[in-house]
Amino acid sequence: MLPAFFDSVLQLIVRTSTDLPPDVRAAMKTALHAEPAGTRSSQALTIIAQNIDLAADGEGAICQDTGMPTFEIKAPVGANQIWMRQQIREAIAEATRRGKLRPNSVDSITGKNSGDNLGPGTPIVHFEQWERDAIEIKLILKGGGCENTNAQYALPIELAHLERADRTLEGVKKCILHAVWQAQGKGCSPGAVGVCIGGDRTSGYVHAKEQLFRTLDDINPDPQLAALEAEIMSTVNDLEIGTMGFGGKVTLIGCKIGALNRLPASFFVSVAYDCWAFRRLGVVLDAATGAIESWLYRDPSHPIVPMLDQAGFTRTGREVRLDAPLKEADVQSLKVGDVVLVSGRMFTGRDAVHSHLMKHEPPVDLRGAVLYHCGPVVVKEGDRWRITAAGPTTSIREEPYQGEIIRRYGVRAVIGKGGMGAQTLAAMKEHGAVYLNAIGGAAQFYAQAITGVEGVSLLEFGTPEAMWHLTVRDFPAIVTMDAHGNSLHKDIEATSGEHLAAIGG
Ligand code: SF4
Repeated sequence: MLPAFFDSVLQLIVRTSTDLPPDVRAAMKTALHAEPAGTRSSQALTIIAQNIDLAADGEGAICQDTGMPTFEIKAPVGANQIWMRQQIREAIAEATRRGKLRPNSVDSITGKNSGDNLGPGTPIVHFEQWERDAIEIKLILKGGGCENTNAQYALPIELAHLERADRTLEGVKKCILHAVWQAQGKGCSPGAVGVCIGGDRTSGYVHAKEQLFRTLDDINPDPQLAALEAEIMSTVNDLEIGTMGFGGKVTLIGCKIGALNRLPASFFVSVAYDCWAFRRLGVVLDAATGAIESWLYRDPSHPIVPMLDQAGFTRTGREVRLDAPLKEADVQSLKVGDVVLVSGRMFTGRDAVHSHLMKHEPPVDLRGAVLYHCGPVVVKEGDRWRITAAGPTTSIREEPYQGEIIRRYGVRAVIGKGGMGAQTLAAMKEHGAVYLNAIGGAAQFYAQAITGVEGVSLLEFGTPEAMWHLTVRDFPAIVTMDAHGNSLHKDIEATSGEHLAAIGG
């Protein structure tokens, strides 16, 4: 049909997964310069910047969670949408085979990973007809960590720290601020929000996500919404949630608001949160051949400007070296704020592994172990495995299990992102363990710290959910929950709550 269509879509997928658009790069550069050198947020942003450069240079996935592919397509009248959808599915499967996308499509009943990112509802493909004689395809890859921080409010509503949000633009503002506060660092801040005022519950979320296709530097054509976007951006950073929830000056890099008509009885505000790894690109295709006529959001004739013009993450000499497996004394000496460099053996484990360990003995000895909340991108080369992307996943999902696993099996350190809750903190204090916060999304950066894949257990759960046995060298992370009952996450949530009351109450 269109001989170049498949190849064009494949290029779009690979480029979107590996290279952030210039508007997002510019916003992240501004964030980098806003944080004073040497602060936790500044260190985290340096790692993020280094990761963005590594991904673009090596055409590797920016984040190991390559997300839910969502295509928005405008096609001329008469274009064969059935055929195009099938080609898109094949391109998704091919990008997965090449390790540019992680297998992310899981049967919701059986838990089985399809292995190729195809299944009911994946990928998401929306078509619209238009009068032009070209095909426009936009793609966003939005991961699970930020998707889980989406929020929807039915107004009027009472909100923590903000009292009542009424059916007014002031009420909408409160909802947006509340959503950002509630997300803390779990959605890999600094992020951007797409917002829909109105609609019904379903169309509200769809329209909120559509706002994320706007560039971060555009101006809303509706003057009232433009003013609200500007107001949010001028106040939201006073929350001081900062990068990864470490505290700091930059919490949000964009706020884009749309509106839909609603039923008189309903007033929803839907917020779609996207992380700093804001992967969104597009192409315009020749409708006769499917060849790329032009790119959207980026100009390929402009060379990619590196994020860092100096060295990346540099050591201060104050880092604490940890050699896994760990002894209790190793973790008792750590305190919140310490930067550690972990070397030795590390095991990955996320949702399926944690659930499994509640009912079965672990496949390996976890005494003294470092458990890494990570679902890596893995490729098989001959009979060996290679990890191509390996950043942390959101830890709070394991809160119902983590304390018990520490208690039963003697885990000494958990690495993840976004922090954990009161049960885990109590178990860490009781049994001598720490939580180490790695930088969410820094998948290429952390893949470099992995020196070997020694084995794998529970592969039947699929590659992201299996337990990988890794050897790492100088894997950097920050102690954010220590064995003495201290939690940076608890502290930042409390102080940012006070700021929320001050700016939005
Ligand atoms: S950067 Fe964080 S929130 Fe975004 S996709 Fe990666 S892990 Fe998920």
